[in-house]
Amino acid sequence: MSFDYDVIAIGAGSGGLSIVERAAEYGKKCAVVEAKKLGGTCVNIGCVPKKVMWFGAHIAEALRDAPDFGFDVEQKGFDWATLVAKREQYIKNITTWYDGYMADKGVDVLHGWGSFVDKNTVLVDGKKYTAETIVIAPGGTPLIPQETENADLGISSDGFFALTEQPKKVAVVGSGYIAVELAGVFQALGTDTTLISRKDLVLRGFDDMIRETLTDAMLESGITKEYHFAVKKLERAADGTLTIYSTDGQEIHGFDQVVWAVGRTTLVEPLALANAGLSANGRGFIDVDENHKTAVDNIYAIGDVTGQPQLTPVAIRAGRYLAERLYNNKPHLKLDLSSVPTVIFSHPPVGTVGLAEHDARKEYGHDNVKVYTSSFTPMRYAFTQHQIKTALKLVVAGEDEKVVGIHIVGDGADEMLQGFAVAVQMGATKADLDATIAIHPSSSEELVTMR
Ligand code: NDP
Repeated sequence: MSFDYDVIAIGAGSGGLSIVERAAEYGKKCAVVEAKKLGGTCVNIGCVPKKVMWFGAHIAEALRDAPDFGFDVEQKGFDWATLVAKREQYIKNITTWYDGYMADKGVDVLHGWGSFVDKNTVLVDGKKYTAETIVIAPGGTPLIPQETENADLGISSDGFFALTEQPKKVAVVGSGYIAVELAGVFQALGTDTTLISRKDLVLRGFDDMIRETLTDAMLESGITKEYHFAVKKLERAADGTLTIYSTDGQEIHGFDQVVWAVGRTTLVEPLALANAGLSANGRGFIDVDENHKTAVDNIYAIGDVTGQPQLTPVAIRAGRYLAERLYNNKPHLKLDLSSVPTVIFSHPPVGTVGLAEHDARKEYGHDNVKVYTSSFTPMRYAFTQHQIKTALKLVVAGEDEKVVGIHIVGDGADEMLQGFAVAVQMGATKADLDATIAIHPSSSEELVTMR
């Protein structure tokens, strides 16, 4: 049977692009389906624009501390619109580059939403395309809590990236990756920021040291935190601002924007999975095996839609390995999720790889786990009015003290972690770290000098 393509990827985000890019290198005829812009969430409304805003926030913090280093500067103003315009131009350059790159690789871009007609056929903008292999990679979209009255008065992270004016006062609802990242950016750039959380600490599931240190740092930065606050309702007041009501009768007034950062959901609805003999599981994900194969033989799924860590490099690795297995005779290449490093671009940033202390004690037994910690004010803040702590933790297991977790919160954590993640991936022990000569003066040297 002949098909239009060897492989069609549905979704041109990090996962979809990586499979077609690699498959095309192996001479396969490929197409990618995309209703919006090439690059998906990460490039257009995620990692990339977020990091630009994070850099902007860092400049603001440097300006704040500049007088402590003897500079005669005063921050007279900040033009949000200028930063946003430059950010969007930068992203446009990336997506334009992608258009050319796909053309160079001979990959067809099919514009529109893709839905299954059958297991080998995808309908896009009224036209049918067939492929031997189909890869589902539609990514996800922010959740807006349905149980909250007038939740639509708030915006999501998508709405954050659409803001062309700086709000004076915002509430960010949530306590995960996106909530702490956006709250940090708003506050550093001068918006009066309130973080509304159902719990008392941010980043549930992360190591307690990270949760406590980051929560304290956010409060010290001036963010107002509303603990144990479950949002019941939003209401627009006569002056146009928003009021937030809690389920236990509290109310907070006067927000220009309320930003929901309460998780993401998958984009499976438009796929008409049933036509291919597939369905999403109870949590909205598509189940896959270790080869990323779905319940239907010629259909694979990669990225956020699989329920695996919702991280760009995880989707890219999944896509590339899939191409290697299918088209380059490397069936042994499997995605290893045992120690995925991740960075949260909060203020200060968080870097973590491997197990949190509580998870390590569960996995290895309480007494088989030892932790080494260090907490200090880095030299950068030795004589500044604003001081931001750094805290580090090594989690080691067994007699040989294998490093099973590294947790860092503090300036530089974002760039520090990648190298240490290599060590963890290679099975380093505490003795291996100790045998490494320190770099002085740095914060990372603490990780090889802990006692
Ligand atoms: P997360 O899953 O990280 O966090 C969502 C948090 O929202 C939960 O921990 C929960 O906290 C809270 N929450 C859920 N429902 C409600 C509610 N109704 N009211 C108040 N709080 C609520 O989701 P995010 O949206 O922050 O991010 C999604 C994913 O995107 C991340 O998990 C990550 O994989 C990825 N991402 C990665 C980034 C990076 O690599 N730097 C950056 C941004 C996103 P609790 O239960 O404690 O109340």
